Amino acid sequence: MKSSMPSSLLVLVSVTICLSTWGQGIDYAKIEILTEKIGPNLYMLSGSAGADPGHEDAAGGRIGILTGPDGIFMVDAQYAQITDKVLAAIRKISSEPIRFLVNTHVHPDHTAGNANFVKMGALLLAREELREEMLRPPGRAGNVASAGDPARLPVVTYGMGDPVKLRMDGEIVDLIPVRAAHTGGDTMIRFENADVIMIGDFYRNYGYPFIDTNNGGTLKGALEALDVTMKLAGPNTKLVPGHGTVINRTDIAPYRDMILGVQAKVQQMINEGKSEQQVLAAKVTAPYDAKVPGGLSRAGTGTSADRFVSMVYSQLKGGK
Ligand SMILES: [Zn+2]
Repeated sequence: MKSSMPSSLLVLVSVTICLSTWGQGIDYAKIEILTEKIGPNLYMLSGSAGADPGHEDAAGGRIGILTGPDGIFMVDAQYAQITDKVLAAIRKISSEPIRFLVNTHVHPDHTAGNANFVKMGALLLAREELREEMLRPPGRAGNVASAGDPARLPVVTYGMGDPVKLRMDGEIVDLIPVRAAHTGGDTMIRFENADVIMIGDFYRNYGYPFIDTNNGGTLKGALEALDVTMKLAGPNTKLVPGHGTVINRTDIAPYRDMILGVQAKVQQMINEGKSEQQVLAAKVTAPYDAKVPGGLSRAGTGTSADRFVSMVYSQLKGGK
């Protein structure tokens, strides 16, 4: 697997695929890729602010890059439209071939670039559930971005159970499957020696939690994933969400408490026979709004607070 940048770039131009509803309003030309070194040979790549209405603080989903003599191990693939910029950022830190790519979950801001990197030679790994989500008919969130190109699909898949372990570049990388949380096919990626865990999107600190129940996510699973994260993380472990700032395990408990607090209030209103509209009108997130940046800003159809409360309502109503 040798890297061949010029031809890869040519491929990129032709593979750039238009995102459907998910990508509306994104100014791809404006996005810059910012690189942060987080371990001896581990880097985080994020999109710049102010170009992606769905992620005002940083466009798209965060990428992880492990470098070294065994080649590059990559976490998530960003929007397909900016693969050339992502590749340029990678090439600033390493000229090694991109050997492995894993997806934290199915959403296009993490997977739409899959096919581009696979065509450069990367072996794509992900949950079996993620592959199934990608294969569902277009029109549902998460599978619209690169529909039709088989290169977007994971080649190596795994289910729940013991983590898949990769040993390369002096690192032990654990692909840790998470029960249905943000989506039905979430994976956390732990770099044991760097003491870093990329946790995907079941935690976020910009806007309220998003649990994509259309793609298999569940409220219970998200709470369970937070518990697992608290158990896995040591006091110095850097927890890297797909969006927002890097945290450590002490940040998880208040976040979990906020979800439980909102859940309790919504359950109480359901018990009182209140409708979803009545629950939304009650602004049950009010005690937390000041501590959730972006929680009340509007993106698409409404605020992330309203989206979160609607999700909690429907999960509890459905007995989930
Ligand atoms: Zn997501």
